[in-house]
Amino acid sequence: MSEQKKVVVIGGGITGLSTAYYLQKEAKEHNLPYSVELLEGSNRLGGMIHTENREGFTIERGPDSLLARKPSVFRLIDEVGLSKDLVSVSTGKSYVLANEKLHEIPSGSYMGIPVQVRPFVFSTLFSPIGKLRAAGDFIKPKSKPQGDQSLGHFFRNRLGDEVVENLIEPLLSGIYSGDIDNLSLMATFPNFYQIEQKYGGIVRGLQKTVPKPANKQGNKKPSPFRTLQGGLGSLVEAVADSLNEGSVHLETRVSSIEKKADGYDLKLQNGEEVHADSVVITTPHASAQSMLSQYSFMDSFKDMPATSVANVAMAFDQSAIQQDINGSGFLVSRNSDYRITACTWTHKKWPHTTPEGKALLRAYVGKPSDQGAVDLSDEEIADLVLKDLNKTMNITQEPEFSVVTRWRDSRAQYTVGHKDRLKQIKADLVDELPGVYLAGASYEGLGIPDCIDQGEEAVEHVLDYLKQ
Ligand code: FAD
Repeated sequence: MSEQKKVVVIGGGITGLSTAYYLQKEAKEHNLPYSVELLEGSNRLGGMIHTENREGFTIERGPDSLLARKPSVFRLIDEVGLSKDLVSVSTGKSYVLANEKLHEIPSGSYMGIPVQVRPFVFSTLFSPIGKLRAAGDFIKPKSKPQGDQSLGHFFRNRLGDEVVENLIEPLLSGIYSGDIDNLSLMATFPNFYQIEQKYGGIVRGLQKTVPKPANKQGNKKPSPFRTLQGGLGSLVEAVADSLNEGSVHLETRVSSIEKKADGYDLKLQNGEEVHADSVVITTPHASAQSMLSQYSFMDSFKDMPATSVANVAMAFDQSAIQQDINGSGFLVSRNSDYRITACTWTHKKWPHTTPEGKALLRAYVGKPSDQGAVDLSDEEIADLVLKDLNKTMNITQEPEFSVVTRWRDSRAQYTVGHKDRLKQIKADLVDELPGVYLAGASYEGLGIPDCIDQGEEAVEHVLDYLKQ
């Protein structure tokens, strides 16, 4: 039997947790002589996943939804015995706030792209000219093949500015917290480009590839989102509880990584040193760059932007909301004169989060063009949110309490060319630092399932590397 080897996973967000979990599982199941340690810089696990329970409310300070069509997160949930706690979105309706009014998102849209013609034609969200321009997608020839382009450029060319600004932009920038005129098509939705190239148009292509909606017998389309009864923090807890005792180290920030003849020495902020045979870095890119700052190939991460966002969860008595709306929330169109970017009617979307007779709203600020909103005081954020909400909702009482959360420089921006830059960095890592891998929200997808996918891929790389 070969000697004991040590793998260090840096970062205790969902990427690091899933990486450590699957590595330990492989080691146990195949009796591999590997120990796996997870080092987390802060005093808690979960990273951007952060659930707070307060006065009977379940408040998500970070993510609240899991995309049902992405399997890796449900596999992990099953692994740690939480499948029984899965909950589906309770109401399917969502809206866009445009021209001072709420408009229902036309049914059959896929990531903001109108797939069914009828609901789009009858939608109040677009002007007749905007609709006509979008129909141009059916007659416009496919674009000339190109390496990468911005999401905004691609969709404006196919569907026109109005559909982009009233629907696609609010949806996609809600996911990426970025400006779609800078975000890379190939790093976010390469499938849209492939569909356009294959079918000659994006709407026609999606009509052929997206599963059909509810049938005439009235079978409801399954909801696209899930969450967990105890909040997404319960997944963090369950994964952490499944890790080997003593293998998780909180308040253990890694400052630098040095290559040695027999592996890597990790210098910790507290002055200690940890030796590893293989390392998986799951921190944001700025932190990864700073750990490996002596390697110039990591420099392109210095130019990779990350935006900040904040959100405020506000708990009310149900009677405070005079004009409640039946739906899961709304997004704000790009040209509207609002500082909030979206609002989730959490008590409608996830009723289990809210005690009977109460309401829970969560509103978001921090557009790419309004980063200053994140630096306002808690009171200022809550005030501006209430002012904006009252333009559509008529809220007559102060919240019983509010929880403001800021996520500074947290939203990595995959700008045009991201994929090529990342490919180069990963190739240089293989050459110069074999056994060191990157995974997580800064790299190949920032949804929770994408992060878990990357963790699983890193596990495969580590196992292959240690076998050599
Ligand atoms: P992180 O969660 O950032 O974890 C990285 C960890 O590394 C942190 O714990 C950090 O403390 C640690 N670290 C950093 N530097 C060091 C160091 N030097 N040494 C040791 N540790 C270090 N996704 C969805 O799928 N659905 C949603 O509904 C959704 N909504 C979101 C809402 C908000 C407000 C936000 C902010 C994100 C949302 N996301 C959503 C995205 C998703 O939550 C994140 O992309 C994902 O959780 C990131 O996980 P991660 O492990 O890659 O990174």
